Amino acid sequence: MPSSDAPGALPPGSTIGILGGGQLGRMLALAAARLGLRTHVYCPDADSPAFDVSAGHTQAAYDDGAALDAFACAVDVVTYEFENVPVAAAERLAAKVPVRPGARALAIAQDRLDEKRFLSEAGIAVAPYAAVDDATGLDAAVAALGLPAILKTRRFGYDGKGQAAIRADADTAAGFAAIGGAPAVLEGLVRFAREVSVIAVRGLDGRMASYDLVENVHRDHILHTSTVPARVRSGTEAEARAIAERILSALDYVGVIGIEFFVVEEGARERLLVNELAPRVHNSGHWTEDACAVSQFENHVRAVAGWPLGPTARHADVVMTNLIGAEAADWPSLAADPDARLHLYGKREIRAGRKMGHVNRLARRA
Ligand code: AMP
Repeated sequence: MPSSDAPGALPPGSTIGILGGGQLGRMLALAAARLGLRTHVYCPDADSPAFDVSAGHTQAAYDDGAALDAFACAVDVVTYEFENVPVAAAERLAAKVPVRPGARALAIAQDRLDEKRFLSEAGIAVAPYAAVDDATGLDAAVAALGLPAILKTRRFGYDGKGQAAIRADADTAAGFAAIGGAPAVLEGLVRFAREVSVIAVRGLDGRMASYDLVENVHRDHILHTSTVPARVRSGTEAEARAIAERILSALDYVGVIGIEFFVVEEGARERLLVNELAPRVHNSGHWTEDACAVSQFENHVRAVAGWPLGPTARHADVVMTNLIGAEAADWPSLAADPDARLHLYGKREIRAGRKMGHVNRLARRA
């Protein structure tokens, strides 16, 4: 089914390879299936939620060259749902098949220091920061930024992992030990009024779109709720969308990106600082499944398959609540609640802190 309107588009029946087999991969595979596209999920874990809903799967390590080569032969394009896929794996695949978004976005998002440097060079504001390579470097960073501050490992940090708060009276060496003495970034503590995020997408043709600004509340370092609309002053949302477009263009990006911001109040003004980039679909975009005609998952699939982007407009106010650990055991009452759109990830084992599902509650129309 070739198309003359979307040159380079993969026709229905094509296969999207997904690196990573968690809930994000699962929801991408479901969205792809709706458009007649097949998926093949590559993940080292036997118990991957995305395997259940994907036509093909490979259970192999990310450094298994033979398995990666076979995967490249089995798919028409590769994307990822997890940003800690080794860049070497993405580059090996890219020699054989398009990888979208590209390996550069992956590399930048994997290293908090590179990410901050990239954003600063693009003229985008971030929290004050300094590189920390060792204990002496930490003392110099503390002298430059002051305390309190947050020490974060450069690599493999997420949901508050690999982070240590360093209070004003703290022993800095203990903070460095708490993150395992790994290369790190010290960040000044930002006294933010709220945390928001933008889910934006860029197509193969360079067109861009973004969803409405999301207000996020974290609990125990894990996203708890995402509420749309976000409570921000006029102008702040437009600024967040404009920053997203600058990032997408600078990375020559294809696909969905999640960008987390701190909103800092300065008198009557609000200032945005970028906290983190996620080069993939994002937990704070799960509300789009029920409050928008085309979800972040479908738009990511459309972008990486070279299709036209779908509309990002929102038709209802919405609150997304994550179901963490044992909260998913409430599924019978959530399934019986006509105002709750329930999404469960099919994870066989409930563990503390594990994302098991989410619920979208749309505001009722008057
Ligand atoms: P991260 O893993 O960098 O997204 O950080 C997890 C959470 O820690 C953020 O969502 C914030 O709530 C908090 N946090 C991270 N960095 C800072 C900072 N520099 N100042 C204040 N709070 C922060």
